[in-house]
Amino acid sequence: MQVLVVGAGVVGLAIARAAACRGHDVIVAEATGGIGNGVSSRNSEVVHAGIYYPTGSLRARHCTRGRRMLYDFCASHGVAHNKCGKLIVATSPAELTKVEGLLAQGRENGVEGLEMIGGNAARALEPELACIGALSSPESGIVDSHGYMLALWGELEDRGGGIAFETPVERMSYAAPQWQVQFGGRDAGVAAFDAVINSAGLGAQALAQRIAGYPAGKLPPLVLAKGNYFGFAGKPVFSRLIYPTPVDGGLGVHVTLDLAGRMRFGPDVEWIDHESYTVDPRRADSFYARIRTYWPGLPDGSLVPDYCGIRPKLTGPGEKPADFLIVDEAEHGLPRLVNLFGIESPGLTSSLSLAEDVVERLDR
Ligand SMILES: Cc1cc2nc3c(=O)[nH]c(=O)nc-3n(C[C@H](O)[C@H](O)[C@H](O)COP(=O)(O)OP(=O)(O)OC[C@H]3O[C@@H](n4cnc5c(N)ncnc54)[C@H](O)[C@@H]3O)c2cc1C
Repeated sequence: MQVLVVGAGVVGLAIARAAACRGHDVIVAEATGGIGNGVSSRNSEVVHAGIYYPTGSLRARHCTRGRRMLYDFCASHGVAHNKCGKLIVATSPAELTKVEGLLAQGRENGVEGLEMIGGNAARALEPELACIGALSSPESGIVDSHGYMLALWGELEDRGGGIAFETPVERMSYAAPQWQVQFGGRDAGVAAFDAVINSAGLGAQALAQRIAGYPAGKLPPLVLAKGNYFGFAGKPVFSRLIYPTPVDGGLGVHVTLDLAGRMRFGPDVEWIDHESYTVDPRRADSFYARIRTYWPGLPDGSLVPDYCGIRPKLTGPGEKPADFLIVDEAEHGLPRLVNLFGIESPGLTSSLSLAEDVVERLDR
């Protein structure tokens, strides 16, 4: 099949590579001038183990499976990564109950190696930590997400596929037996494809709205939840990922590490109504308070505004978190069209598994 993938983020690239590996002719259309310019370059680069998500959900399934696939891919393709492990810490009896709940959830999801450790055992691993207990997740880690995307792109090209940059998809309609796709930008024009995959991240709903005959009832809302990060202007004190207990809309302001060992903090949850990428330095106040619950030694004046990312959520504050939403022909009735909505965290970790799922749907 001639397959068009819309969006050269980590998920679109993984889908394009998987489709090319199946023998399809694949083109990726990307609105900007490079890969990973959307949500994919604005995340924590954490390889999640798969603990938090309801058993049987797409997020649980694709995160645990995608994580194993991602580590294998990184090892075989020379992508930098570090399975450094993670501690989810409890600083009060109420949090301890929550963390124990996460242990049960993670085990049900098939996550390997999880165990509860006491406060002293946690401090033996991370001496600066203050907590009364922690869930240890040895399978969690970090990955060079840009290196990973470059490897996906390389394999796509090796299999004869390619990316058309500065080529936004404007609209499309199905005229049997193919999709007629209108492109804007550098090489504006119309081209025909057998199958189309909408992996446009924050632009997925806007694109689906411009698909002729797409049922309005299959178009979920787009809810924007910004996540701000602050860098740490000092010598790193942790060698593992440190997470507090999760909060409404996110996993809590956690310590992430980059591959050089530098520490940063975030992301928080800021509900917004339009895309904006500035980090308000005043948000540091709430960061200090939250971080000091598990790291009392955080020095004054050590947090510097860094970057932010926007989660493409499907539900808002106080609502039950939505699962990834993959809508194919069986639901919307249009042949060989797959729309991906709400691909927020753990989309990076899940990407290889999601990609297989999506490509299999084209053959049904
Ligand atoms: C703050 C934050 C932290 C996160 N942390 C983690 C983490 O630690 N671990 C993890 O596993 N996941 C994490 N995630 C989730 C992960 O980053 C995303 O799930 C993933 O990057 C989504 O990739 P994508 O390809 O779907 O979207 P994107 O990367 O946004 O790619 C979509 C692409 O489509 C393009 N596009 C849009 N409209 C059009 C159009 N009409 N025509 C052509 N191109 C178009 C855009 O330019 C963009 O390049 C985090 C997310 C956020 C926001």
